[in-house]
Order: sequence, then structure tokens, then C-alpha cells
Amino acid sequence: TVRTRVAPSPTGDPHVGTAYIALFNLAYARQHGGQFLLRIEDTDQARSTAESEQSIYDSLRWLGLEWDEGPDVGGSCGPYRQSERGDIYKEHINILLEKGHAFKCYRTNEELEELRSQKQEQGGYSALKFSDLRLSEEEQAKREAAGDSYVVRMHVPEEGVCTFKDELRGEIEMEWAMIDCQILMKSDGMPTYHLANVVDDHLMEITHVIRGEEWLSSAPKHQLLYKYFDWQMPTLIHMPLLRNPDKSKLSKRKNPTSILYYKRMGFLPEALLNYLGRMGWSMPDEREQFTRDEMFEHFDIGRVSLGGPIFDQEKLSWLNSQWLRDLSEEEFVQRFVDWGLDKSALMPVVQHVQPRVERLSDVVPLTSFLLSGMLDVTEQQFEHKKIEKDELVKLLQMGLWQLEAIRHWEKPEIQKRLFALAKIKELKPKEFLQPFFVAIAGTTQSFSVLDSMEVLGPDMSRARVRHAIE
Ligand code: ATP
Ligand code: GLU
Repeated sequence: TVRTRVAPSPTGDPHVGTAYIALFNLAYARQHGGQFLLRIEDTDQARSTAESEQSIYDSLRWLGLEWDEGPDVGGSCGPYRQSERGDIYKEHINILLEKGHAFKCYRTNEELEELRSQKQEQGGYSALKFSDLRLSEEEQAKREAAGDSYVVRMHVPEEGVCTFKDELRGEIEMEWAMIDCQILMKSDGMPTYHLANVVDDHLMEITHVIRGEEWLSSAPKHQLLYKYFDWQMPTLIHMPLLRNPDKSKLSKRKNPTSILYYKRMGFLPEALLNYLGRMGWSMPDEREQFTRDEMFEHFDIGRVSLGGPIFDQEKLSWLNSQWLRDLSEEEFVQRFVDWGLDKSALMPVVQHVQPRVERLSDVVPLTSFLLSGMLDVTEQQFEHKKIEKDELVKLLQMGLWQLEAIRHWEKPEIQKRLFALAKIKELKPKEFLQPFFVAIAGTTQSFSVLDSMEVLGPDMSRARVRHAIE
């Protein structure tokens, strides 16, 4: 039977790209009467968080993307969280070491840098091969005896051509000389993506790997690992990456990429899913509006086109408007209430609102900016007694860069970064924050802009500041 999976890393907000890949995996599995798995790839312990993992579950479910097996639902091939599979990876590393397909590499960072620059000087590829990395027998033994730290790397042929097949692209060739002796286990004993991914896909009996094009260049290493283990490799299908309207790779520096942003903007999950289904794919009859189940019924992976699909909020908005018009009045009201007036939507702001109102009728004016998309702000609103207009734009831009750099979106972190900028600019925090206030809330008559940003989340806050700059 067909088994597919999506394997996100729980770092940061859930990405629309994750939903897009999940959708195509689910469609493929459903079309073939197979199973779809969710695996959490959290081997990067420093960047992975439990909140991020939870928001992956919540946002995929919100979109109607359900998995048959996963960390939170169980299944017969678990655990489905890589951080709980450490022993499995160690066991497999040992198999490779014993068979001579991998080696312990004691090279220090300085040595590696030196080796790389040597190779660059010689011209040609700078990939590090076994012949570069190898130490003399004595030296290897010396470092081993001293208990120096090491990584485990895979053997990769020094030369020749690797051929592998992608279902959408056919045969692809890459020169082995371009490919590093990939690290499989880091010096702290943690596996890298490549080892964990291959071992898990095999043990979880994955038959079709559908993932973003960015992983195409990893395929030769993966193919080699399957060969070393004497396992059959799943069928590979690399989907084209989502792009910004200017054709560059969709990225948070230009566009919101978080599913939470699209939810907060008031897109219906059906509409967002429908739109993702049109990224590189179309219905046989080319109709634009379709449900998840209609997509599954007519799904054909061969209809994926490789030109980079453009993820355009304008088009998404149009599609969303169609979905909204199709709701009965009753459903429309229910959707709106669930989206904006529900307890879960209001609880995060109550502590800021309650102390500031005299009547319940004050609540809506005070909070309406939280329920809005981009705000219509005028130049006059930004007028500042201490800062010139040109300077103001620069200040917002510098603030935006700070906001873009935040990994854990919490008030103290936002405050720390913006106040540090205020200091550099020799402004009082309040003076500095004023234009941000206008950009975020459309007014300065509201509760703290730092609290507002925390509630609005990173993508919406950044989008509003960006909107104000434009
Ligand atoms: P950004 O450039 O916005 O920082 P990123 O590439 O760093 O994005 P990650 O957090 O690395 O984003 O990726 C999260 C998930 O989203 C990964 O599974 C990745 O494959 C997927 N992804 C990221 N960008 C795209 C894209 N343009 N199209 C499809 N999937 C994407
Ligand atoms: N953890 C990888 C990601 O974040 C998985 C890539 C794959 O599907 O192999 O996209």
C-alpha cells in the first residue's frame, strides 16, 4: 500500500509550504487508498519548540489535513518524533561504520576550513571527499586515543556520475565530485537530517516521498544510504517551491508565510486549502474552486507542472470571496463569530482591554485593529514632533529588520530589540514607538503597542509595518 508523509521541523510558525506539501502527500495517499503520516523532525534541539509543534498540529487540522499516524495519534511505526528515536539512529550509524560505509572524522573546524580553501585554490569543486579528510593512521589513532570529538561521515564516491529518478523530472544526473562526504552524526551524537530522514522513511514504510524541490540535491546522498543499508528507496517526487509575486522563493522577508497569519486575516480554511491545491496543479476541467475531497477524487500527480507557482494574496483573496459568498447567511455569521468573537480569540487581549473600558460598547473601538487586515493609515498620522519624514521611514525599516530577526515572538524580546534601537537613535522609548503604534494599531489611543504586536503575531505585525513603509 501507498504510504506518504510530511516531516516538518517544529521551528517557528507553521509554514504555508508545510501545508502545501502535506496536501499533496495526503491527496496522493487518499487517491491510492493508502496512509498519510506526520513525522516531527526535531533533531535540531536548539531551534525546536513544543509550541511550534503544537501549532503545526493545530494549523494542519484547521485546514482539514488529517494524518493517520503521528506523534499525537500514535501508530504502529512510532515514535513519530525524531528526538525520541536516538537509539535507532545510533544502531544504524553502527551498521554503516561496521560495513565501512561511514567513517569517524576527527578533523577540526580549522582543518576543514583550510582543506576547503585549498580545494578552492585548485579550482574545481570544493566538496570534501574521503581523500581530503583522511588522516594518517597514526594521527587517527592518536586522536582516537585522546578521546577527541568526532563526527561520522558517509563515504561518497570520489568520482563518476550519480543517476537518480524523480517522478516529475525523469532521470537526473549529478557528479559525485560535487557531493560532500555528508555528516551523518554530529559530535554530540545527534543524527543529521539525512540519516534520520532515510532511516525513518524506511522504518515507517514510506513508499512515496513528496517534498519541496529544495531537497532535490540531497537525493544522491539518500539514494546511496538506501544502497548501503540494502533497502529499497521510495519513489521521489519533488514539488516546485512556492514563489513570491516577483518570482523569488516565498519567504517571510517579502510575504507572510505563516498559516496563523492567513487565519488571522480571515481566510477560510477551505479557501486556503483550495488555493494551495492550485499551486502547480489544476483540476482536469481547470475549474478554480474545488473542495479537498473533489481534489482527492480527481488527483493525478502527473498534472503537477514544474514552473514555480506564485502564491499571490490577491488571487487568494478573490478565491476566498467566492467561498464566502457561497455560505448561507447563517453560516457566514457563525464563521465570523468563531473567527473573531470567539472566547479563544478574545482571551489573549482581555487583560489589556478590561482595565481601559467604561462600557462594553468601548470594547469594539479599542480592539477593532486586532480584527483587521492591513490598516489605512495616512501620512499625517505619522507626523512626529522629533523625527523628519525621511528619517521616520528609515526608523520603521530598521525596526522591521529587528522584528524579522526575532525567533521567539514574545513581548520581552520585542521590547528589548526596539528599545535598543531607540537608544541608538537617542530617542525615548515612547517617542521611538510612536510610528510603530500608528503602523500596528492605526492610532496611538490604544493599549501598549508591544502587547498588540505580541497578540497579532510576527507575520501580521511585520506585514503592517511593511505596509506602513510602502
Ligand atoms: P524563510 O525563507 O521564510 O525563512 P525557510 O525556508 O527558512 O523560509 P523553513 O522554516 O526552513 O522556511 O521551512 C519550513 C517549511 O516550509 C519546510 O518544510 C520547507 O520545506 C517549507 N518551505 C519553505 N519555503 C517554501 C517554499 N517557498 N515553498 C514550499 N515550501 C517551503
Ligand atoms: N524536515 C524536512 C523539512 O523541514 C523534511 C524534508 C523531507 O521531506 O525530506 O522540510
